[in-house]
Amino acid sequence: MGAEVGPRAEGERAMVQGLVTAIQANFCQVSLEIPGPGGLEQLLCTRRSRLGQAGTRIHVGDRVGLEGIDWPAGRAAVGDLLPRTSLLGRPPVANCDRIVVVIAMAEPEPDPEQLSRFLLTAEHSGQPVEVVFSKVDLVPPAQLESWRQRLISWGYEPMAVSTASGDGLVRLRERLTQPGIAVVCGPSGVGKSSLLNALVPALALRVGRVSGRLRRGRHTTRHVELFPLAAGALIADTPGFNRPELPRDPAVLPALFPEIVAALREGSCRFSNCQHRGDPGCRVGTGWDRYAFYAEALAELQLASAAALESRPQRPSNRLSRRRQRQQAPDLG
Ligand code: GDP
Ligand code: ZN
Repeated sequence: MGAEVGPRAEGERAMVQGLVTAIQANFCQVSLEIPGPGGLEQLLCTRRSRLGQAGTRIHVGDRVGLEGIDWPAGRAAVGDLLPRTSLLGRPPVANCDRIVVVIAMAEPEPDPEQLSRFLLTAEHSGQPVEVVFSKVDLVPPAQLESWRQRLISWGYEPMAVSTASGDGLVRLRERLTQPGIAVVCGPSGVGKSSLLNALVPALALRVGRVSGRLRRGRHTTRHVELFPLAAGALIADTPGFNRPELPRDPAVLPALFPEIVAALREGSCRFSNCQHRGDPGCRVGTGWDRYAFYAEALAELQLASAAALESRPQRPSNRLSRRRQRQQAPDLG
């Protein structure tokens, strides 16, 4: 490996293409678009240094062009990164087509604020969002129904599943076996690995029956990986993070609430800069389930962005003060 340095012949460019399904250290696993000799489906690849120099980071979900292929050894190098349609930040997954937010009906108890944070993060990706209620075997039907109604009022149509009883798995598989990449997220312990195991039987994901501490350890050391669900359909489990950050910009917040989006589809508020906090002529109003959460999240983000503005050096009124400020700057830390 590493023999082909120098300009490539044009014809060689991206002859063989594939999809990055896992990354570990300097290697990535690439699933070939068209199987190679002997039906070979995957190659273990290194990255060409020029990709690194250009500052291009390759992520799981990226489509890449391969070079220097050593078929017998099953090795190659990533030479080209093909254009992305999207990039999720956390977990880093490129070209994701839908996000599945999993929330357990019990063990752990559903926490509306935590669920909302996951939903906001998912909505922020701009991709379609699906909600899955897991461990439905642990709660009476009435309790499940009341959560279902609640999520419907938030603008979602949750799917109820149980890997223990098998309920809902066929329907979930149908929903997810569309071409593209689905990313599964949700608090740790809600049964994401169990679901993946049930959906991708070939998978030997270790389902945690271990203590909380070990479980966290497992999640921090694991990497994002894409697993085949059906032809062209891939699914990624995400290492657990339990309290996703809110998006930074308060201005984007309203668009992440389907309730607000639906209300504004009916007509606009009286003031174009309406913050939907009981302002006069607001179409959204305050009588919706997540209003208190929305108002708090907005206030939190506004405070944070005001604090960020204040911590910047004040705008100098003339050159002299600017110079003085520059001289003072090192002391400020
Ligand atoms: P993850 O952290 O979200 O990946 O959750 P796991 O898949 O590791 O599951 C956490 C625990 O919940 C394990 O002990 C599973 O056996 C259990 N579990 C998963 N799915 C179900 C379910 O449908 N019903 C019940 N009762 N327990 C489940
Ligand atoms: Zn409004």
